[in-house]
Amino acid sequence: MQIIRTIADLRSHLATYRKNGETIGFAPTMGALHSGHLSLVEIAKQHADKIVVSIFVNPAQFAPHEDFDKYPRTEEQDLAKLKGHADIVYLPSKEELYPQGFDIKIATGKIGQELEGITRPHFFDGVALVVTKLFMQVQPDVAVFGEKDFQQLHIIRKVTNGFDMPIEIIGAPIIRERDGLAMSSRNVYLSETNRKIAPALYQALCQVKDLLHNGKNIDEALEWGRKNIVESGFSKLDYLELRSADTLSPANNINTPTRLLVAAYLGETRLIDNIAI
Ligand code: AMP
Repeated sequence: MQIIRTIADLRSHLATYRKNGETIGFAPTMGALHSGHLSLVEIAKQHADKIVVSIFVNPAQFAPHEDFDKYPRTEEQDLAKLKGHADIVYLPSKEELYPQGFDIKIATGKIGQELEGITRPHFFDGVALVVTKLFMQVQPDVAVFGEKDFQQLHIIRKVTNGFDMPIEIIGAPIIRERDGLAMSSRNVYLSETNRKIAPALYQALCQVKDLLHNGKNIDEALEWGRKNIVESGFSKLDYLELRSADTLSPANNINTPTRLLVAAYLGETRLIDNIAI
């Protein structure tokens, strides 16, 4: 496994792979790796010969009041977890990715301002920027993103299509803890008490799904879910919404694939989750 920190070094290693006719799979991450991240690597392996995993906590997607400084950074453990799984771990520097004076932006449009974008208006533009830069650097054949961040996956597809990038985007299923909580690097922020409450978010999604499958009216099912999440002990609900799985526009029936998406706070920690209906 090669540990690479510069664009030049990355390019020279990738050139060797390409000379040998090998395809490249890519999984971008912000580190603090868990089994969810490792599942992306395994999926990438099914689609490509060589696997690049990047670890970069991207300042462009954090607002000043968010947790950029305290975001968990566990490089040594991350490298140990990737050993034997990734061919290249790419750890670019902030200075090389965003040199002084760099002011190019990508605007992700209307969908970037909805759901997650309401609380985090600059988030998806920041994600699109870093992913585009990483795509230009790695030039993968295939890139894998988790369905955990369902809106992000949608926006990455939009950006990839919009810029005519010849990269296949693959969505990977959500990996959960045994009690149903979606794995996330931010789960370490949860207090012991809140960690016990946290699985209620997934349980609420499953219950709303059952209500919908049993024919309950969508608005009533969502209202029930919203009330249930707050009553379970969540301090604040940002949204619980039913959207088309393909377009992410609001869904008014479940005859075509839809996705139930949620974001809620437990103390200061904001959790997101979603399920297919
Ligand atoms: P992050 O390090 O949080 O930026 O996530 C990097 C990638 O891992 C993204 O594509 C996420 O959607 C994906 N990911 C994070 N958590 C999970 C999970 N529990 N299951 C599957 N994929 C995940």
